[in-house]
Amino acid sequence: MSFREKTTPIIAAEKEEMRRLFAAGYDKPHIAEQVGRSYSAVCACVRRLRPAAPSVAKKTRPCLCCQKTLESEGAHHRLCPCCRKKTTTPFDL
Ligand SMILES: [Zn+2]
Repeated sequence: MSFREKTTPIIAAEKEEMRRLFAAGYDKPHIAEQVGRSYSAVCACVRRLRPAAPSVAKKTRPCLCCQKTLESEGAHHRLCPCCRKKTTTPFDL
């Protein structure tokens, strides 16, 4: 008997895992290996998931410097473009 990929229906937890890995930027063959599913199963699942998962979840946050609201790309993005330009590093002093 040789190893065979799972043929049982994909459960929600597996879809969730595929979605998570796909969002994290893993390629489909890698995801297939991770979840123990065939490449085509991952393709079908990810294709179905894609419209529901926006590429970048932008959020409106206040700028840490001037409090002006900005479209933040994530936790690393907290300064408006103006304040970003103004920011000085120890090398600028
Ligand atoms: Zn600002």
